[in-house]
Amino acid sequence: MRFALTAAVSLFALAACSPESDAPETEAPETERSQAQDQLESDAASEEGAAAATETAEPGAEPDFSDIEGNDFEEASHGWSYEGEGGPENWGSLGADYATCDTGSEQSPVDLVSTDMAAQNTPDINWTPASSATVADTGHTIVVMVEDAGGLTLGETRYELVQFHFHAGSEHTIDGEQYPLEVHFVHASEAGELAVVGMMFEEGAASSALSGVWASLPEGEGETDLDVALDPNAFLPEDDAIWRYEGSLTTPPCSEGVAWTVFQTPITAAGEQIEDFTARYDDNYRPVQPLNARSLREGDAG
Ligand SMILES: [Zn+2]
Repeated sequence: MRFALTAAVSLFALAACSPESDAPETEAPETERSQAQDQLESDAASEEGAAAATETAEPGAEPDFSDIEGNDFEEASHGWSYEGEGGPENWGSLGADYATCDTGSEQSPVDLVSTDMAAQNTPDINWTPASSATVADTGHTIVVMVEDAGGLTLGETRYELVQFHFHAGSEHTIDGEQYPLEVHFVHASEAGELAVVGMMFEEGAASSALSGVWASLPEGEGETDLDVALDPNAFLPEDDAIWRYEGSLTTPPCSEGVAWTVFQTPITAAGEQIEDFTARYDDNYRPVQPLNARSLREGDAG
């Protein structure tokens, strides 16, 4: 079967972006399929949000996360996509539960520019090699779900790293410039709060961290276990300068209250590595959103 239920119950809820409602048929028995499908739909309801949803939930239990609480998971994905009728400009009208995509005033991504405002809180990142990792092609992105991979502390709050995933081109821009690829490390606190760490890729030296992930990609949509050791620290740029701001999920339902950190120094990937991703997804990014009353702040990650 394509989606192993035991892992999928917790792991797929962590997926950044899920298969759309017309997602691949699974070969699972009916009961497993419907549960797995519930999870898939639920993570469709929330890019990074669903991550928190089941972080504290028992497998099979209804996720306890306000963004998706009460949602009818069967209808939650509303066929959102990155182009056409389901595209970003229409997300807010695809369903009442996606309205924040239109009405929100603290949306992500944003254009990142230099500022002299210092961040009051900067993340203290202490990732560790994951005890296990699974790579999935969800139909909206490639996501790597990790276990026991450390996390970060921001202010008084502890967040655990639950997954990372990719967007091409980048979602955030720097001084208006879009990069070919962006990775989002999604962290969830025990209370279901989210903190995401983003990094831009530019073309350059091959990324050893990326090659391990790409080598484990499933053939089509589905998931595979990562067969190499995964240490998320291998992604970190040497320069720890960051931007901080308060934003949202970058996929429906565009829920706000997400603590964003984006590294200022791009990391590199070989052109071929970037193409390995864009061969699957070459436009899975949401355009930048207005900053409105928010402040961008700068600092150094710990
Ligand atoms: Zn993302």
